Order: sequence, then C-alpha cells, then structure tokens
Amino acid sequence: MNCVAALADLLSFLMSKKNTFLDSVSQYFDLAASHSKVSPGILTQIKSCNSVCEFKFPVLQDDGEIEVLTGFRAEHSHHRLPTKGGLRFSRHVTHDETVALATLMTWKCAIVSVPFGGAKGGVCINPKTASPGFRERVVRRYTSELIKKNFIGPSIDVPAPDYGTGEQEMGWIADTYKAFNSDGLNAYACVTGKPLSLHGIEGRTEATGLGVYFGIKEYADREDIVKPLGLSRGIAGKRVIVQGLGNVGFHAAKFLQEMGDAIIVGIAEFEGGISNPDGLDIEEVSAHRRGTGSILDFPGAKNHTNSSELLEADCDILIPAALENQITGKNAPDIQAKIIAEAANGPINAEANRILLSRDKLIIPDVFLNAGGVTVSYFEWLKNLSHVGFERMTTGYESQSNERILSTIEDMTGRKADAEQRALFTAGASEQDIVRAALDESMSSAAHSIEKTRVDNKLPDLRTAAFCHAIEKVSKTYIDLGIFP
Ligand code: GLU
Repeated sequence: MNCVAALADLLSFLMSKKNTFLDSVSQYFDLAASHSKVSPGILTQIKSCNSVCEFKFPVLQDDGEIEVLTGFRAEHSHHRLPTKGGLRFSRHVTHDETVALATLMTWKCAIVSVPFGGAKGGVCINPKTASPGFRERVVRRYTSELIKKNFIGPSIDVPAPDYGTGEQEMGWIADTYKAFNSDGLNAYACVTGKPLSLHGIEGRTEATGLGVYFGIKEYADREDIVKPLGLSRGIAGKRVIVQGLGNVGFHAAKFLQEMGDAIIVGIAEFEGGISNPDGLDIEEVSAHRRGTGSILDFPGAKNHTNSSELLEADCDILIPAALENQITGKNAPDIQAKIIAEAANGPINAEANRILLSRDKLIIPDVFLNAGGVTVSYFEWLKNLSHVGFERMTTGYESQSNERILSTIEDMTGRKADAEQRALFTAGASEQDIVRAALDESMSSAAHSIEKTRVDNKLPDLRTAAFCHAIEKVSKTYIDLGIFP
C-alpha cells in the first residue's frame, strides 16, 4: 500500500470512529459540559460508564444445536440506585452501543426527575427470526447471568423493554428472578414493562409514544419556537413522517393523529416505505402489516422501495423512531422537515446534528423526548414496591367526593345532570388516567427545566440545554453525597 492510500485508510478509519453513536453521545456531553459550571473532576466521573458486564452464554437452538451468544449490561451511573434501562435484542448490539445507550439513560432519568442511574442491556440476536421458545431460553439464561453477577434486582439494576423486546420478555425476566429470590417480597420490581397480570402498570406499553406526543406538543404549541420555522402553532394539520412502526413509532403516530389531529403522510420501515399526502390511518396501516407482513401496498398509498428516501421527503415533523445513526452527514443536508423529533435513541449523529442546526432545524432531543418510557417504568416500580395500584386507594373516595359536589350544585341550581353527565363527573381516576396525567406533567415540567437552562445559559439548542441541565443535576447529587468535598 502506498503512502497516500495508507493515509486515506487511516483517515477513513478515524472518521468512522468519530461518527459512532458513542462518539456522538460523548461530543454532546462535552459541548454541554463546556457551558456548565461543573468542575472538571466531577465531569470526568459523570461522563464515564461505571460498570460494563460483557459475557458469553450458551443457549439451545430449536434444532438442538448450541449457540453461544454475547450479552451486555452497562450501568453508566450509580449516583442513584437502582440503575435503569431497557434490554435490547438486535444483531447490532455491541459493547459501545450498550454504553452509549446506558449513558443516555442517565441524562434521560435526570431530565424527567426519575431517581435512577442509567443502564442498558443487550443480546446480539435477531429478534425477527428467533422463535418464541429460543427467545425464552435466551431471556432466562441472560437473567440468570445477571443474577450471578449482581447486575439485576429491585434496588440494584432494573431492565425494561427496548428494541426487539416487549412485555413477554419482561415477564420471563420477572419469573426467572423470582425463582432465584422466592422470598423476595419486592422481587417483581426487578423489571418493568411487565404484563399487567405480573404486576405491570396500565399505560406502560404506549408510554414512550405518548411521551413523544406530549413532548412535541410542548414545542409545537409555542409561537416563538414554531413561527421562525415557518410553521403555525399546534400539532393539528402538521404533516408527519415516521421512521419505524415498532412500539414507539406506532404509538407516537397514533397519538399525534388521534389526539393532535396531525396528518401522517409517510411511514418508513425495513421492507420499504409508504406515503400519502392526504394521510395514512395508522391503525389501518398496522392492521394491513399484521395481515400481509408488510406496510407496502397499503390501499391509496405510494410505495417507496428505498424507505430512507422518506427521511428526506417534504413534511413538517420528521420522527425517527427506529435505531441510532439514521441521519448522518450524508442525508442531513437533504432533510426537508422543519422539526426533527428524536423518538429513537441517537437517530442523529453529531455531524448531522451540526448540519441540521446550521440549517435552522428544531431538533427535539431523545434524552427528553423518549423519556416517557422510563417515567412510566418508575411508576410501575413504585407500584410494585407499594404492592397496590395508584387508583385502588383513591378512585372510590374521588368518585364519592365528586358525587357530593355534583349534588350540591344540583341543589343550588335546581337543575339535574343527565345520566351521561353524572357518570362523567363522578368517575374516579383509573390507573391509566393517573399514569397518563402524571406522564403529561413530567414531560411538561422537564420541557420547562430545559427551557430555563437554555435561556439562563444562553445555549444554542435544546440538546445542549437538556444535557447541560442533566449534567448539573447529576453533579449536584455527587456533591451532596459528599464524594467530592
Ligand atoms: N428502553 C426505554 C428507553 O430507552 C425504557 C427504559 C426503561 O423503562 O427503563 O428509555
């Protein structure tokens, strides 16, 4: 190899290193840290990942052969315990990806005032081709590895669903943990996102997507933010493109459409994309996909064989809700959306972030926008520790109290409410009502804290403000713990 070729090789190697997910997260941290008042020593501590566990474990395949899998669990920060974060099943799971995701969890929890440190786990398998039996064996063995290594427990580290996992996997984790801790009163708090029958909570499944809706609304409703983008206030009528119709993308699109009256004009998936300027009914697209195995050929929609072209299509709000590194230096100059709402973790790399900001796009960052999942996980964990649903102790009293208020109003006005009005007025809040209202409030108050940090520190964008706010919060805990006198 001649000198020039060797140099070009080295340069491209260095460039590829610079654009990894972990590197992007590190660059976001460094930029925000430079605006914070936190001392260098504390910054070094809170930036680094405290513990990473990487292990191999054997699992029986359906054909009787043994496959040796690689699993990870990263606990980024122990400033608060337990640590918290999802379990991902994907062929792209790596050490660095897991660390990057665990790091984001620390900032995410701080931003929505969830008292946990950040963590994340992963197993390098293809969730799409793995049979239910194989997945169960993987989950149970992975969980027992975590138990052996003291990387799981209600006060230690609490997994949850992430890309490629869901309620069923969480149920298997709970059952395996319980088997090893049979007298543990709080054993079910070792994992969140569980099925309702295993002490899950109403509203966890849709929590991340609903949080995405609440988070977008916080900014879309502000004239001073949307007017410079050339948009009118509010979500109604906004043209939305969603990448990824998994749990997060589906629910975000569903709430934007049903609660916000947005128009879903495009959906991108693995198998291709579909678009329709008049709107795509998200429930119908989902039913079509369940029936045919693909979103393609949805009645009235145009097919796109290359779904990534939809990222660059004309729309008001683009929602990457799939995986990291979807918007890079290559496609960032061509993004037409005015708002990019990060429903996935790390969908925009640092280079693309700079390009989009220089093009005056509004980026609503992942560490805030997709924090709804962990927020409701926190509620589930609290429910598990208290061994009673939030509504159990309040619904009856609320209902009776509302009945008394209504009767007083009726006596005073001489008018009677009809049956429908009476039912509406006197109903006590259900678990789902309580969870949704608390989630809305959490997103709203997080948005206000980020905004305050942005204004007080004259910060250029929401991500820097969100990171800066989180860094200051986490460092304050370290200082108060007395680790840095
Ligand atoms: N996997 C989700 C996330 O990335 C949820 C984590 C949790 O609920 O602990 O935020």
